[in-house]
Amino acid sequence: MRYLPVFLDLQSGLVALVGTGELARAKLRVLVAAGARIRWYATEGAHDVHGLEPAQLARIDFAKSDPLNDDLTGVVAIFCAGAGDVGVAMSARAKSVGLPVNVMDDLAHSTFIFPAIVDRGDVVVAIGTGGTSPVVARRVREKIEAVLPARIGDLAKFIGRFRKSIHARMPEQSLRRRFWERVIDGPIGALVLSGHKDDAEAALNAIVDPSAFAGAETSGKAKGHVTLVGAGPGDPDLLTIKALRALQDADVVFHDELVSSEILDRIRRDASRIPVGRRVGKPGIGQEAINQLMIAAAKSGQRVVRLKGGDAFVFGRGGEEIDALRKAGISCSVVPGITAALGAAAQFEVPLTLRRKALRITFLTAHKTDDADLVDWSTLTDTQMTVVVYMGMSAAPAVRDGLLAAGRSAETPVGVFARVTRSDAKAAVGTLEQLPDLVAQVGGGPAILIIGDVVAHSAPWRRQNLNQIISDLLESTP
Ligand code: SAH
Repeated sequence: MRYLPVFLDLQSGLVALVGTGELARAKLRVLVAAGARIRWYATEGAHDVHGLEPAQLARIDFAKSDPLNDDLTGVVAIFCAGAGDVGVAMSARAKSVGLPVNVMDDLAHSTFIFPAIVDRGDVVVAIGTGGTSPVVARRVREKIEAVLPARIGDLAKFIGRFRKSIHARMPEQSLRRRFWERVIDGPIGALVLSGHKDDAEAALNAIVDPSAFAGAETSGKAKGHVTLVGAGPGDPDLLTIKALRALQDADVVFHDELVSSEILDRIRRDASRIPVGRRVGKPGIGQEAINQLMIAAAKSGQRVVRLKGGDAFVFGRGGEEIDALRKAGISCSVVPGITAALGAAAQFEVPLTLRRKALRITFLTAHKTDDADLVDWSTLTDTQMTVVVYMGMSAAPAVRDGLLAAGRSAETPVGVFARVTRSDAKAAVGTLEQLPDLVAQVGGGPAILIIGDVVAHSAPWRRQNLNQIISDLLESTP
């Protein structure tokens, strides 16, 4: 992000508009609609006010002077549209006096960008693409227009009117946030959005005890809650809608190191984020300490999210955490995530089951060679079983040896799938015999191993076979 979206108070001063023609008039219409007072320098010919209402005209000061020499005292921003070379010169002047300037369609001479706007009164959405593509911005705008209720601005205004009085009655901030969430998500919000402001106001005034309405305990504090959220394997678009909501509602998020930064970006800005996982080479704070932190945070009335890579209940120690929370009497819930195996399967087109061919799946972990020694490999020799190994990179030789010794064929197709669903995902496929070499090819973890005939149906396998056929053909050509 190079351009920070901020909202300029147009009542704080004058804006200067430099330019003529339809481009200038289009800018004028937006600025007038936003309530600005405008000093308009027409760079060529007369000020053409075609299509503007008298009330709008009243906001415009038709400057006759030269914008390059005029006194700019009281001007808070400069817009150039249809200004030609004067726009470029104006940009230099604005920069020299430290005023923000936008020259339409000329990023090099602008210090701010005019965003695409969704305008719902008090609710305004600004969309920018860093000046790269107004067409993309327009498409995003269409999408937002489609999902945003028409009266969302009314809802913001409605809440704004009651904010002070509710603040006075409920000093605790987290409780207040819940109060407004319930108002917005419940019948009162629905009344405003359907245009029944008076009924909404009556319903709000009828709330005798706002703290109880916000779900406070008898102690007057908010009720704490822990949500175990599966973050999926890395791609933020694979978060569930429920997961996103939990991240947006959280007061504090305890997260694993595996969780990608793009996903952490989806957490509510004001929530605390506490990394608690193990980092490569560094121990984490330990499961017991994590449990205690979550319990303490929930007891203090916070909404806690425990954010884990993949799914919390697949080698994620979610079971232990739920046990500890239950024992401490903390209310908790679980939001599932896409586990690494499913991420790999989708991205690399590995069907984990196949009709009549692959009828069973086993997920197992082999963190160290010692773990691999504990596995009863004889239960994994069935050729109709797909075996997925988590945390199996360093134990790959032991996994291979165990399976071979138990009698699974050395020719069994296998794949190593690293950093799946992230931008640097990589797969290496081959036979069980080659498993440790394949691990060496993917360039670091996290990675899962998939073992079974289904791997021969995967996209990397098909690609590899095609390459092989081509090189065989080339070699056989005299
Ligand atoms: N709860 C997680 C698993 C945690 S165990 C889940 O459901 O996915 C950590 C192991 O998960 C890693 O060693 C690796 O085997 C696997 N893993 C996690 N994220 C991965 C990713 N993006 N790509 C490949 N493997 C991943």
